[in-house]
Amino acid sequence: MFHIFAAQVKGFLGGCRPIIGINGAHLSGYYKGVMLTAVAIDENNEIFVLPYGIVDTESIDSWTYFFRNLRCLFAQYESQKDDWTFISDRMRGVESALFEVFPRATRRICCQHLYSNCKAAGWSGAAFHKMFWIAANAYNEYVFEKTMSKIKDFDAAAYDYLKNVEEQWSVHMFNRTVCCDHNTTNFVESFNAITKANRDMPVLTLLEDVRNWCMKRMGSRFDKAVSMEPNDLTEHAKGVLATRTDDSRFCHVTAAGDGEFEVRDDHVKFPVTLGNMTCGCGKWQGSGIPCKHGLRVIYNQRLDPRDFVSPFYKGPAYKLTYGDHIHPMADPTHWPSLDVPEIAPPQGKRNAGRPPKQRRRAAHEAKKGKRHKNNKCSLCKELGHNAVTCKAKKASSKKTTHAASSSQQGNTRGKRKAAT
Ligand SMILES: [Zn+2]
Repeated sequence: MFHIFAAQVKGFLGGCRPIIGINGAHLSGYYKGVMLTAVAIDENNEIFVLPYGIVDTESIDSWTYFFRNLRCLFAQYESQKDDWTFISDRMRGVESALFEVFPRATRRICCQHLYSNCKAAGWSGAAFHKMFWIAANAYNEYVFEKTMSKIKDFDAAAYDYLKNVEEQWSVHMFNRTVCCDHNTTNFVESFNAITKANRDMPVLTLLEDVRNWCMKRMGSRFDKAVSMEPNDLTEHAKGVLATRTDDSRFCHVTAAGDGEFEVRDDHVKFPVTLGNMTCGCGKWQGSGIPCKHGLRVIYNQRLDPRDFVSPFYKGPAYKLTYGDHIHPMADPTHWPSLDVPEIAPPQGKRNAGRPPKQRRRAAHEAKKGKRHKNNKCSLCKELGHNAVTCKAKKASSKKTTHAASSSQQGNTRGKRKAAT
């Protein structure tokens, strides 16, 4: 089956960025089967559910069925666009099916998946991990090429492997008009996490729970979108602007005339063009939100940063995305009787015994919940601990100093008493 509500397809075609994340998750109940999902990202960087389907197995046939329905659906809503950007893992059948149905599509691969592939091939360790993610998150070619040459020195085979990846994976490769710098499928995984609790339920119960979740989610955002003004930014864009404004304090601007500027950040210089909304670092074009260099210029020129944020993060687009909502539904017992064929459940039943709920992880995959030792604290920017530990550490050190000073005071008081 393939399923979507009108509010979802209208919302996606109306306001969302043209990127679609796809994934398949196994059903863990009585029937075997796979739930295929397509998820987009809204203006507030939250997930926006597109169609989901249930098929027997992941294969070229089942993915072709899914993509064909998706294309027909877009055509039904008068969208002839066929150069969508898709992001996924390397799942069975996806590539051939995708390019058969959408020959002009762009394909991004999830970097988390790509890194796992590298790890399985034997390239791992803290140094490779660091270089890989710098290359994956490089907003400009210079940083990418520089890091790739370091990877080449580390291991020539790893360099060859990464150079020959056919899908797009490093941020600087992405189409700027998409305005989306996501290079992992974490947003699709978060929808999978929501359906996980119900994937061992009968198919209709699963579908009903997902419908209910989508209705609730779209309803709350529909109410929020109503009050948004044309130049209002979403919470996500506001947050990014605030962080980048903070970081922009140490940049120095030199005007070059005709809306062009040179911004010095530490000892590196970046050219900024206000009219084109571009910066040499590539972050502005890549994310659609001014980078710290662009922001320094905007503040320097006494302009409003909101005017330089992509329309994909503003009120009108948010209103289009949540311009409609999923209407409430009566209980199935109250439905009118329809003369339609019954849909058969997925073929193939499980053997006796309870199927495992947890996914079996491969030998090279990290254990569930294991934190990377290179995690960075968001407060003090140091490696090796997180913000919670940092806060606790600071609080305990404050307590010790306070206790020490109060005990010192106590001692002097005692001495004074003795003296009198
Ligand atoms: Zn910049």
